[in-house]
Amino acid sequence: MARLIAGIGVSHVPAIGAAVDNGRTGVGIWKPVFEGYEPARRHLAEQEPDVAIVVYNDHGSAISLDIVPTFAIGVAGSYPIADEGGGPRPIPAVHGDPELSWHLADSLVADEFDITACQKLPADHGLTVPLSILWGTPQQWPVRIVPLAVNVIHDPVPTAQRCFRLGQAIRRAIESYEPDVKVVIVGTGGMSHQLQGERAGHINTEFDRMFLEQIRVDPVALTRISTREYAELAGSEGVELIMWLIMRGALREDVELVHEDYHAPVSMSGAGIVVLRDA
Ligand code: FE
Repeated sequence: MARLIAGIGVSHVPAIGAAVDNGRTGVGIWKPVFEGYEPARRHLAEQEPDVAIVVYNDHGSAISLDIVPTFAIGVAGSYPIADEGGGPRPIPAVHGDPELSWHLADSLVADEFDITACQKLPADHGLTVPLSILWGTPQQWPVRIVPLAVNVIHDPVPTAQRCFRLGQAIRRAIESYEPDVKVVIVGTGGMSHQLQGERAGHINTEFDRMFLEQIRVDPVALTRISTREYAELAGSEGVELIMWLIMRGALREDVELVHEDYHAPVSMSGAGIVVLRDA
């Protein structure tokens, strides 16, 4: 049977990917940020997951405003790296796991989460930056990837509680998957940041630190925060944090902390990582 071995929350700031691509992870402001990722990388290297479900949002690369699914899952065998304006990032293509993807789609729809199945889903920084953070610069990614895209771009976005419940349904789907695979789930985005309007540059380190603590000890409290309050407190793009709650919903109520780290500002964002596993 499939087993969920860890849940990871991590930022997907584009500049972090650029630091990897430009070989700058050991210099200047990047050094402490990347040192803070090391324990997460070690944990994954030790645990050797077979597949990662990466919960992220597309930023207009694969999903245009013409059609905006609330929740969408990639069901393809591979996903090309998206060109976000400067050419695709120089990283390996992302290999999928269609069997697990379709199992998740079947199970989620039966569980009343009507998820959109995508045969084509070019991977933008929302998905690829976390891969670089967690696995560096390999010739091939050491895991198969199931992309799960969430609309946090276009109102109405799903509630934090809906995201948490989706995570719980993902847990049920993993537990009903027969192949003996080790699964890690990654919730990406945030933390606090706002890229537009009068409050551009808004970062709320107090909120970010509260979120890092509560995602571990009392995630249900985080599901009671409305998406409007997320935007007010964490910035208009800080609402991406609801995707961490999908990851957290997939874990048990009691979790243990493997690792966490936080830096701000990182390219106009509060940037954090948390690695949790069932207690
Ligand atoms: Fe984003």
